Amino acid sequence: MPFLPGLDTTPPPRPRRAARAPAPTEAMRERALVIHGRLCAEYGCPIGYFHDLDPLSELISSLLSHRTRNAESGRAFKALRAGWPDWAEVEAAETAEIEAVIRGVTWPELKAPRIKAVLTAVRERNGRLDLGFLADLSVEAARGWLEAIPGVGPKTSAAVLSFSTLRMPALPVDSHHHRVAQRLGLIGPSVDVGPSHPILRAQLPAAWSAQQLYDNHEILMLHGQQVCFHHSPACGRCVLLDLCPTGQARTRG
Ligand code: SF4
Repeated sequence: MPFLPGLDTTPPPRPRRAARAPAPTEAMRERALVIHGRLCAEYGCPIGYFHDLDPLSELISSLLSHRTRNAESGRAFKALRAGWPDWAEVEAAETAEIEAVIRGVTWPELKAPRIKAVLTAVRERNGRLDLGFLADLSVEAARGWLEAIPGVGPKTSAAVLSFSTLRMPALPVDSHHHRVAQRLGLIGPSVDVGPSHPILRAQLPAAWSAQQLYDNHEILMLHGQQVCFHHSPACGRCVLLDLCPTGQARTRG
């Protein structure tokens, strides 16, 4: 199985405990809560869930979505389901057929074999193509189980737990979320997306519900999409400007 550039690749070799971050300072916790409160007011929490997929379907959807626009990955997912309504049929299908069906996503030639390999890994490790049993595990254990599958990293494992019908309290971090958190100083400038997961999760209350963590991810992502743009953030109309070292440096003078 080739390495998939750009896919969620933090490939631990075996089941493991999710990475732990050093405890954040009280000031950092308070800062994270103020940011959450302001963005919730701006984007309207609670945010509605955009998916209602079982966890295995969410895992495949997440694999399709890497570095791909939502519309394209959504189309590819629907095409997969239309061609093979059962995931066992996808696992048994020819790689070239899957590749043809998902051709609208980025790197279909790499994602097609990866999808088959992930389905095989789930079936071999769980005895069947079903991830519903994850509901009986702690978030840490469920993420560890998923991340033991090659090609499944922190973003995907958190997405499966949070976005699927499992609705478990996990915090996914996508590229928008990561960029905004970095500009706000919640994570350091050299912290990549994967390692940012435990750091950002530890800044939020341990007892937060699935909905609260989902909201936190969604509002930071929305802020990255609508205000804190990749190339030219709109700091002048940002509700976080007084809290943001990047924005203050950009608007100073
Ligand atoms: S002030 Fe600017 S850099 Fe900071 S979060 Fe807002 S838009 Fe992003």
